[in-house]
Amino acid sequence: MQNVPAGLYPIRHAMGCFHLLVEDDGKSGVLVDAGFFGETPRLKKLLARLGLPPAAIRAILLTHGHLDHVGSLPEIQEWTGAPVWAHAEERAHVEGRYRYTGVARVCGWAEATGRFVLRRRLGHVDRTFVDGELLPFWGGLRVVHLPGHTKGHCGFYSERHDLLFSGDLFASYFFGSHKPPPILNSVPEHFAASFQRVAELNPRWIVPNHYDLLDGARLRRRFDSLHRRLRRSAPERFLAGAAGHP
Ligand SMILES: [Zn+2]
Ligand SMILES: [Zn+2]
Repeated sequence: MQNVPAGLYPIRHAMGCFHLLVEDDGKSGVLVDAGFFGETPRLKKLLARLGLPPAAIRAILLTHGHLDHVGSLPEIQEWTGAPVWAHAEERAHVEGRYRYTGVARVCGWAEATGRFVLRRRLGHVDRTFVDGELLPFWGGLRVVHLPGHTKGHCGFYSERHDLLFSGDLFASYFFGSHKPPPILNSVPEHFAASFQRVAELNPRWIVPNHYDLLDGARLRRRFDSLHRRLRRSAPERFLAGAAGHP
């Protein structure tokens, strides 16, 4: 791990990562997302290593409600007792009621099948947040609404560390950075404004949920090159800038 603050712990699973953020006093923390199915043992192991009880998790913040971010949510909710926070538009995803349209219907079908085959329960959202809200965790996390992938997709910005958790705005691997595949995107017309918004926020470090190596500076550079590429391929979409944000 490089170019990330102390207290940031990635939990890696087959489909990506979710993150534990431990407060300065080392006694409590919050989760950003909850991973795919079957991730609770990894979280338990990490908390045991850090000497933290399950109740040390004060909240579970969701970037969005896709299954690779909420698959283990019901178990983790039950085990920690932590409230789940999300944008109101993600409630239907988390609670398995979202109606996908267009090509994204494939995503809905895959999620429903996965839940059925694995006989998984659903999670629930306890509190909603709105764009710009400052959440009282990890020295303050600002909600940054970044729709495109889903309607209520949000990032969380830590001013103290000048770091943005960018969810699934983009994925970043050594062979290239890219937007999520079209079948996973519910409102792709909002991607351009969301990319512009992050560029204007200009965080020193970026941490998405799908990446190879955790290096906040390198992931920021990869965001920049993807943003440049997208702007070149469809400049008209980027002219409106972040003003196009819904
Ligand atoms: Zn997603
Ligand atoms: Zn994802």
